[in-house]
Amino acid sequence: MNAFAGHTSRDQTILVVEDEDPIRELVTTALRFAGFTVEAVGTGLRVLAESRRSAYDLIVLDVNLPDLDGFAICRKLRSEGSHVPVIFLTARDDPADLRAGFSGGGDDYVTKPFSLEELLLRIEAVLRRTRTPETATNRLSNGDLVLDEDAHRVWRGAEEISLSPTEFRLLRYFMLNHDRVLSKTQILDHVWDYEFAGDPAAVETYVSYLRRKLQDRDGHLIRTVRGFGYALRTVDPGAPPGP
Ligand code: CA
Repeated sequence: MNAFAGHTSRDQTILVVEDEDPIRELVTTALRFAGFTVEAVGTGLRVLAESRRSAYDLIVLDVNLPDLDGFAICRKLRSEGSHVPVIFLTARDDPADLRAGFSGGGDDYVTKPFSLEELLLRIEAVLRRTRTPETATNRLSNGDLVLDEDAHRVWRGAEEISLSPTEFRLLRYFMLNHDRVLSKTQILDHVWDYEFAGDPAAVETYVSYLRRKLQDRDGHLIRTVRGFGYALRTVDPGAPPGP
Protein backbone atom coordinates (compact mmCIF):
# COMPACT_ATOMS: atom_id res chain seq x y z
CA MET A 1 0.00 0.00 0.00
CA ASN A 2 1.20 3.49 -0.75
CA ALA A 3 2.54 5.22 2.36
CA PHE A 4 0.47 8.30 1.59
CA ALA A 5 -2.84 6.57 1.14
CA GLY A 6 -5.70 6.87 3.54
CA HIS A 7 -4.30 9.36 6.06
CA THR A 8 -6.62 11.68 7.84
CA SER A 9 -5.62 14.76 9.78
CA ARG A 10 -2.84 14.04 12.27
CA ASP A 11 -2.94 17.14 14.41
CA GLN A 12 0.82 17.53 14.01
CA THR A 13 2.64 20.50 12.55
CA ILE A 14 5.83 20.24 10.53
CA LEU A 15 8.09 23.09 9.50
CA VAL A 16 9.72 22.52 6.12
CA VAL A 17 12.91 24.51 5.51
CA GLU A 18 14.22 24.44 1.96
CA ASP A 19 15.43 27.27 -0.27
CA GLU A 20 14.81 25.46 -3.56
CA ASP A 21 11.21 26.30 -4.46
CA PRO A 22 10.33 23.09 -6.36
CA ILE A 23 11.59 20.82 -3.56
CA ARG A 24 9.95 22.91 -0.85
CA GLU A 25 6.63 22.89 -2.66
CA LEU A 26 6.78 19.18 -3.40
CA VAL A 27 7.57 18.27 0.21
CA THR A 28 4.96 20.67 1.57
CA THR A 29 2.26 19.29 -0.71
CA ALA A 30 3.15 15.68 0.06
CA LEU A 31 3.15 16.20 3.83
CA ARG A 32 -0.17 18.05 3.70
CA PHE A 33 -1.58 15.22 1.67
CA ALA A 34 -0.29 12.83 4.34
CA GLY A 35 -2.37 14.73 6.89
CA PHE A 36 0.16 17.05 8.51
CA THR A 37 -0.23 20.75 9.02
CA VAL A 38 2.76 22.23 7.20
CA GLU A 39 4.52 25.57 7.30
CA ALA A 40 7.36 26.23 4.91
CA VAL A 41 10.22 28.73 4.88
CA GLY A 42 13.25 29.24 2.66
CA THR A 43 15.91 30.72 4.95
CA GLY A 44 17.62 29.81 8.18
CA LEU A 45 16.83 33.06 9.94
CA ARG A 46 13.13 32.44 9.34
CA VAL A 47 13.46 29.04 11.05
CA LEU A 48 14.83 30.57 14.21
CA ALA A 49 12.13 33.26 14.21
CA GLU A 50 9.27 30.84 13.47
CA SER A 51 10.37 28.20 15.94
CA ARG A 52 10.47 30.77 18.74
CA ARG A 53 6.95 31.78 17.81
CA SER A 54 5.27 28.41 17.41
CA ALA A 55 5.72 24.86 18.62
CA TYR A 56 6.43 22.39 15.84
CA ASP A 57 6.24 18.64 16.15
CA LEU A 58 9.14 18.24 13.72
CA ILE A 59 11.39 20.28 11.42
CA VAL A 60 12.55 19.08 8.00
CA LEU A 61 15.73 21.10 7.61
CA ASP A 62 17.77 21.54 4.45
CA VAL A 63 21.50 21.70 5.22
CA ASN A 64 22.54 24.00 2.35
CA LEU A 65 20.68 27.24 2.84
CA PRO A 66 21.65 30.68 1.52
CA ASP A 67 22.11 32.29 4.93
CA LEU A 68 22.66 29.81 7.80
CA ASP A 69 23.89 26.23 7.54
CA GLY A 70 21.22 23.71 8.61
CA PHE A 71 23.58 22.14 11.15
CA ALA A 72 24.23 25.55 12.73
CA ILE A 73 20.49 26.20 12.91
CA CYS A 74 19.95 22.92 14.71
CA ARG A 75 22.75 23.64 17.17
CA LYS A 76 21.20 27.06 17.81
CA LEU A 77 17.78 25.53 18.45
CA ARG A 78 19.28 23.04 20.90
CA SER A 79 21.26 25.76 22.66
CA GLU A 80 17.97 27.59 23.17
CA GLY A 81 16.56 24.49 24.83
CA SER A 82 14.40 23.31 21.93
CA HIS A 83 13.92 19.54 21.70
CA VAL A 84 11.93 19.65 18.45
CA PRO A 85 12.91 16.63 16.32
CA VAL A 86 14.99 17.59 13.27
CA ILE A 87 15.43 15.63 10.05
CA PHE A 88 18.14 17.02 7.77
CA LEU A 89 17.85 17.11 4.01
CA THR A 90 21.41 16.80 2.83
CA ALA A 91 23.03 16.50 -0.57
CA ARG A 92 26.24 15.60 1.16
CA ASP A 93 26.89 12.12 2.41
CA ASP A 94 30.39 12.73 3.69
CA PRO A 95 30.54 11.05 7.13
CA ALA A 96 32.15 14.18 8.61
CA ASP A 97 29.09 16.19 7.61
CA LEU A 98 26.75 13.63 9.11
CA ARG A 99 28.74 13.60 12.32
CA ALA A 100 28.48 17.39 12.39
CA GLY A 101 24.73 17.07 11.95
CA PHE A 102 24.25 14.57 14.72
CA SER A 103 26.58 16.38 17.09
CA GLY A 104 24.34 19.38 16.49
CA GLY A 105 21.38 17.41 17.79
CA GLY A 106 19.71 16.19 14.59
CA ASP A 107 17.50 13.11 14.82
CA ASP A 108 17.84 11.70 11.31
CA TYR A 109 18.76 12.69 7.79
CA VAL A 110 17.64 12.03 4.24
CA THR A 111 20.12 12.34 1.40
CA LYS A 112 19.06 14.08 -1.79
CA PRO A 113 17.70 12.93 -4.12
CA PHE A 114 15.14 11.25 -1.89
CA SER A 115 11.71 9.82 -2.47
CA LEU A 116 8.77 11.44 -0.73
CA GLU A 117 7.80 8.04 0.58
CA GLU A 118 11.20 7.61 2.24
CA LEU A 119 10.95 11.07 3.80
CA LEU A 120 7.49 10.30 5.16
CA LEU A 121 8.65 7.00 6.64
CA ARG A 122 11.57 8.77 8.34
CA ILE A 123 9.25 11.44 9.70
CA GLU A 124 6.87 8.85 11.11
CA ALA A 125 9.75 6.91 12.68
CA VAL A 126 11.21 10.00 14.33
CA LEU A 127 7.79 11.12 15.58
CA ARG A 128 7.21 7.66 17.09
CA ARG A 129 10.62 7.68 18.72
CA THR A 130 10.36 11.16 20.18
CA ARG A 131 6.77 11.11 21.38
CA THR A 132 6.35 12.85 24.70
CA PRO A 133 5.49 10.68 27.70
CA GLU A 134 1.99 12.22 27.77
CA THR A 135 1.07 10.47 24.55
CA ALA A 136 3.26 7.40 24.84
CA THR A 137 3.32 4.58 27.28
CA ASN A 138 5.44 5.62 30.22
CA ARG A 139 7.45 2.42 30.15
CA LEU A 140 10.27 1.64 27.76
CA SER A 141 11.43 -1.93 27.47
CA ASN A 142 14.17 -3.84 25.71
CA GLY A 143 14.44 -7.56 26.42
CA ASP A 144 14.34 -7.94 30.19
CA LEU A 145 15.24 -4.28 30.68
CA VAL A 146 12.34 -2.00 31.68
CA LEU A 147 12.48 1.73 32.34
CA ASP A 148 9.55 3.59 33.91
CA GLU A 149 9.75 7.22 32.83
CA ASP A 150 7.26 8.54 35.37
CA ALA A 151 8.53 6.69 38.42
CA HIS A 152 12.20 6.97 37.37
CA ARG A 153 12.72 3.28 38.08
CA VAL A 154 14.61 0.63 36.13
CA TRP A 155 14.46 -3.15 36.26
CA ARG A 156 16.47 -5.88 34.65
CA GLY A 157 14.25 -8.95 34.91
CA ALA A 158 12.86 -9.03 38.44
CA GLU A 159 15.74 -7.04 39.87
CA GLU A 160 15.36 -3.30 40.34
CA ILE A 161 18.45 -1.30 39.41
CA SER A 162 19.29 1.91 41.19
CA LEU A 163 20.56 4.61 38.82
CA SER A 164 21.75 8.16 39.36
CA PRO A 165 19.76 10.87 37.52
CA THR A 166 22.43 11.13 34.82
CA GLU A 167 22.61 7.35 34.39
CA PHE A 168 18.82 7.28 34.14
CA ARG A 169 18.75 9.98 31.44
CA LEU A 170 21.54 8.21 29.56
CA LEU A 171 19.74 4.87 29.62
CA ARG A 172 16.47 6.53 28.62
CA TYR A 173 18.19 8.17 25.65
CA PHE A 174 19.68 4.83 24.60
CA MET A 175 16.30 3.10 24.93
CA LEU A 176 14.47 5.79 22.93
CA ASN A 177 17.07 5.35 20.17
CA HIS A 178 17.75 1.63 20.36
CA ASP A 179 19.76 0.19 17.47
CA ARG A 180 20.88 3.65 16.42
CA VAL A 181 24.55 4.56 16.64
CA LEU A 182 24.79 7.64 18.85
CA SER A 183 27.91 9.76 18.81
CA LYS A 184 29.46 10.81 22.10
CA THR A 185 28.78 14.43 21.25
CA GLN A 186 25.17 13.66 20.44
CA ILE A 187 24.83 11.85 23.76
CA LEU A 188 26.42 14.79 25.57
CA ASP A 189 23.98 17.20 23.95
CA HIS A 190 20.90 15.17 24.81
CA VAL A 191 21.77 13.80 28.23
CA TRP A 192 23.77 16.54 29.86
CA ASP A 193 22.73 20.13 30.39
CA TYR A 194 23.42 22.39 27.46
CA GLU A 195 25.62 24.57 29.65
CA PHE A 196 27.87 21.60 30.32
CA ALA A 197 31.21 22.08 28.60
CA GLY A 198 31.02 18.71 26.92
CA ASP A 199 33.78 16.24 27.55
CA PRO A 200 33.30 12.98 25.64
CA ALA A 201 35.25 11.23 28.42
CA ALA A 202 32.22 11.83 30.67
CA VAL A 203 30.11 9.77 28.27
CA GLU A 204 32.63 6.92 28.41
CA THR A 205 32.62 7.07 32.21
CA TYR A 206 28.83 6.98 32.49
CA VAL A 207 28.50 4.23 29.91
CA SER A 208 30.88 2.15 32.02
CA TYR A 209 28.77 2.88 35.14
CA LEU A 210 25.63 1.83 33.28
CA ARG A 211 27.19 -1.34 31.94
CA ARG A 212 28.31 -2.32 35.43
CA LYS A 213 24.89 -1.69 36.95
CA LEU A 214 23.11 -3.48 34.11
CA GLN A 215 25.61 -6.35 34.34
CA ASP A 216 26.56 -5.73 30.73
CA ARG A 217 30.23 -6.49 31.26
CA ASP A 218 30.99 -7.56 27.69
CA GLY A 219 29.24 -4.58 26.07
CA HIS A 220 26.67 -6.89 24.54
CA LEU A 221 23.77 -4.61 25.39
CA ILE A 222 25.47 -1.23 25.00
CA ARG A 223 27.71 -1.81 22.01
CA THR A 224 30.81 0.31 21.43
CA VAL A 225 31.14 1.71 17.90
CA ARG A 226 34.86 2.44 17.71
CA GLY A 227 35.81 6.03 17.07
CA PHE A 228 32.20 7.19 17.07
CA GLY A 229 29.99 6.28 19.99
CA TYR A 230 27.54 3.66 21.20
CA ALA A 231 24.37 1.82 20.28
CA LEU A 232 21.89 -0.01 22.48
CA ARG A 233 21.21 -3.40 20.96
CA THR A 234 17.61 -4.49 20.71
CA VAL A 235 17.06 -7.68 22.66
CA ASP A 236 14.03 -9.89 22.10
CA PRO A 237 11.91 -10.38 25.21
CA GLY A 238 12.89 -13.66 26.79
CA ALA A 239 16.11 -14.02 24.80
CA PRO A 240 18.94 -15.55 26.79
CA PRO A 241 21.56 -12.98 27.87
CA GLY A 242 24.92 -12.80 26.14
CA PRO A 243 26.02 -13.68 22.60
CA1 CA B 1 19.35 24.09 -0.42
